[in-house]
Amino acid sequence: MNDAENAIWAQVWEQLQVLFGILVTDLGSRLSPLNLMSMVGLCLILWIVWRPSAGFLAWLFPARVYRNPSFWLDVRLFLFNWTIGLFITLNYVVVATATAWAIGQALGAGEPMPDDRSPMLSALIVFLAADLTMYWYHRLHHDRTSLWAIHALHHSAEEMSPVTAFRHHPIYSVLGGLVFSVCVGAVQGLAVVLVLGSVDTATLAGTNLFSVILNLGTANLRHSHIRLCYPDWLEHVLISPAQHQVHHSVDPRHYNRNYGEVLAVWDWLFGTLYITQPGEEIRFGLGDASGQPITQRHPTFRTAMTEPVRRAWSVLRGRG
Ligand SMILES: [Zn+2]
Ligand SMILES: [Zn+2]
Repeated sequence: MNDAENAIWAQVWEQLQVLFGILVTDLGSRLSPLNLMSMVGLCLILWIVWRPSAGFLAWLFPARVYRNPSFWLDVRLFLFNWTIGLFITLNYVVVATATAWAIGQALGAGEPMPDDRSPMLSALIVFLAADLTMYWYHRLHHDRTSLWAIHALHHSAEEMSPVTAFRHHPIYSVLGGLVFSVCVGAVQGLAVVLVLGSVDTATLAGTNLFSVILNLGTANLRHSHIRLCYPDWLEHVLISPAQHQVHHSVDPRHYNRNYGEVLAVWDWLFGTLYITQPGEEIRFGLGDASGQPITQRHPTFRTAMTEPVRRAWSVLRGRG
């Protein structure tokens, strides 16, 4: 094995160890102890400031959310996606690292790779690339009817809890992981040659530093009943929990808005931004053209698996 091959396999091995740590200790980054604890801390502050009539726990975990069959379907899809993710993510690690390495080689990066010159800049570039990739991946699932058939499962949630973030069809998750790995890997590869001299990035517990900081406290509130709006100027920069809740609204005024994951600047740039107002009523789920909720398309795990595929197939064959 030559130096170049050794370098790539050393990176794959290093990332596999990081992945193993995440899987064992964090059970998915959004539900990591850090994200959960920071969410509860933020909610405690909001509860003290907002003074709702319910006690803290009853307000944080409203019975109507956890009694709804929609929540229990979220849980089943989370467990299913997490299980298959164990195997699939291993492949993404290889794909992303190999893409970064191949582009670096094609553009003339020497081996061994030089030391990291600017891990903070590298982390920022990778974070921006990842967030922009997620914006377009998400948006395409609203723009293309066949892809919407798959993504509609996420939008058929009638109540929102942090587990709703995992309410995705496996096709969405698998395709997303692949697109994400190739795009972010390509950007890392370019960064090697053009700017940084290394693919290393600033991380915290193996996760991109910017991603950790910007998700603290708020990542899990995006899928929740807690309607936290930011000031107008900040909602042009970061997606507030209320902005993602608007994305799940049945109201036609809210359709096809706020595709961003962490940053709102992409929505602002590409004309899909919706700024929320405190007190705005939002009803979650799938609606018709007049904004009326439609009958639940995915009442069971079986229909959640089969209905999106059947519908996408019909569209592709010209019958949708
Ligand atoms: Zn969506
Ligand atoms: Zn969502």
